[in-house]
Amino acid sequence: MKQSFFKSLPIFHLFYPHNCIGCGTDVIDNENFLCLECINDLPYTNFAIHANNPVEKKFWGRIAITSAMSEFYFSKASVIQNLIHEFKYKGNKRIGTYLGKIIGESLLNSHRFNVDAVIPLPLFEKKERKRGFNQAAILCDGISEVMNIPIITKNVVRIISTETQTRKHRDERWQNVKKSFSVLYPHQLEGKHLLLVDDVITTGATLEACASEILKVKSVTVSIAALALATR
Ligand SMILES: [Zn+2]
Repeated sequence: MKQSFFKSLPIFHLFYPHNCIGCGTDVIDNENFLCLECINDLPYTNFAIHANNPVEKKFWGRIAITSAMSEFYFSKASVIQNLIHEFKYKGNKRIGTYLGKIIGESLLNSHRFNVDAVIPLPLFEKKERKRGFNQAAILCDGISEVMNIPIITKNVVRIISTETQTRKHRDERWQNVKKSFSVLYPHQLEGKHLLLVDDVITTGATLEACASEILKVKSVTVSIAALALATR
């Protein structure tokens, strides 16, 4: 009795339609999280197709980035915030892969991101263990699938925790964040155009620190993709 109940459970979940995460009303198939209306209402930036977009401008005078974008604007009390919350803090990794695929489609359509591989912005090891996953790596799963390019992990690593530094002065923080990444196997990255991926861009300081470390590798170029841009 008990055994047959558990046996039938996964099949039930696999085919049963559910409500849209955005509006909570429209019933959709299991492959999707949002109804068509909510997908259309998402705060797309269209940055991928535009050179000199606000994300690229963030890095001007700081590091030489080939192309940069964020898929969405991050706005509070919105569908995108709900999705990010479900994904990042409630551990719904399927939402992350789904969002990664949306990013991947934009990158492909833009023809400005001719990258060879994706690299998730690494988390400090302890933080990743606590969360159980790196949200940027899950986004990379979706991007990699759509763009048909490999993900490079366990090469670029985070060596210092920036966790306790939020109260420090901006310059002090930058001094620390600057030294917090390391490339373990430069040879693997040589000559490649790499896409560095993060979830939410705020100041861009962490991405800058990581990218500048990657850019020390011979003949490497770096582009950046983020899920959402937080405007302050
Ligand atoms: Zn909806």
